[in-house]
Amino acid sequence: MLNNNSLVKDTEKRIFGKSSELPIPLKKEQEKIIEKLREYCWQSQDAKKAKKYNLTPCVGLAGCQMDFFYKVFCILIKEENDTFLEKIIVNPEVYSYSYQKTYITTGEGCLSVDVSYEGVVPRHQKIKIRGYDYLEKKYFDAEWSGLISIVAQHEFDHLNGMLYYQRSVSSDKIDPEWIPLGDVKNE
Ligand SMILES: [Zn+2]
Repeated sequence: MLNNNSLVKDTEKRIFGKSSELPIPLKKEQEKIIEKLREYCWQSQDAKKAKKYNLTPCVGLAGCQMDFFYKVFCILIKEENDTFLEKIIVNPEVYSYSYQKTYITTGEGCLSVDVSYEGVVPRHQKIKIRGYDYLEKKYFDAEWSGLISIVAQHEFDHLNGMLYYQRSVSSDKIDPEWIPLGDVKNE
C-alpha cells in the first residue's frame, strides 16, 4: 500500500522532469496505476484511512508523484452536501487562461514537498482545458473556474516538472486585484 513516504519528493531530481503523452486506448497496467492515484485521493480524504495508512489529505495528485511520468492527474474536491467533484484527466492541454488571477489564501501545499513555504501562488481564475476524460472515457473540452481551475493548474505544472513554490510570491506582494480563496488541502 502506498503512503505519503512512498511518493516522489522534490528531494529527487526526476520530479522536475517532464511527463510523456499517454497513448489512448490505455493499457491495462496503465489503468491500474491511474486507479492507484485515484484510490490515494479518495483514501486520503477519509480521516480514518488517512491516519491508518499515513496518507496526507490531498485534492489532487499527478502521475509523476507516483513515479508514473505520463500525462495524467486526478482531482478530488469535496463539495457541499458531502458530494465530490472527481476528474481524472489524461493528456491535458490548458489552452486558454483568464487575465483575472486568484490564489489560495493559506498558500498551496504539495505531497511532493515536505517543507512548508511562506507565500501564495497566483493562478488564473479561469482556464480552458481539453484532454481525455478517464472516468467518462471520452475527449472533453471545458472551462473551469475557481478551485478546480487552481488545482488543475497545480497538477498541470507537475506534468511539466514544475512545483508550486517556483511560482509563489510572498504575502506582501499579493495584488489586491487577485481573488482570494479559502483554506484548501494539499495537491
Ligand atoms: Zn503537487
